[in-house]
Amino acid sequence: MTDRLTASQRSGLMSRVRTKGTSLELTVRRALHRSGFRFRLHARELPGCPDIVLPRYRVAIFVHGCFWHGHNCRRGKLPETRPEFWRAKIAANVVRDEHAIARLTQSGWTPITIWQCTISEDVDAVLARLSELRSRALFLQRPPS
Ligand SMILES: [Zn+2]
Repeated sequence: MTDRLTASQRSGLMSRVRTKGTSLELTVRRALHRSGFRFRLHARELPGCPDIVLPRYRVAIFVHGCFWHGHNCRRGKLPETRPEFWRAKIAANVVRDEHAIARLTQSGWTPITIWQCTISEDVDAVLARLSELRSRALFLQRPPS
């Protein structure tokens, strides 16, 4: 238990930046639901375990906290304490994210990343994209006249 304080400090920090099941992800889920899209959560069988997947459209969505995933924005800045520790940790996350995106693309999925700092614009873009896919699917389902 010598690590106790450190562990609790770390988990306190992580709880502020994680995205699984948090308000960021909920915002995206609510928007999709309102627009009538069906989705699944945390698809462990897919590369990178995407937060939200729409199997019908083969769209996989990652909802990323800017700090944790090394976004190039104000929120993505490294803390002043132990910057090297965080640099290594976050660089590993960025590499993991890139691999997941490459592997999803190779398997015919469309990976989409939604960032914390631009969440409303990103959600709008995802909804526009999905609406387009949905109308195309409806068009293809129509019997030939
Ligand atoms: Zn950001």
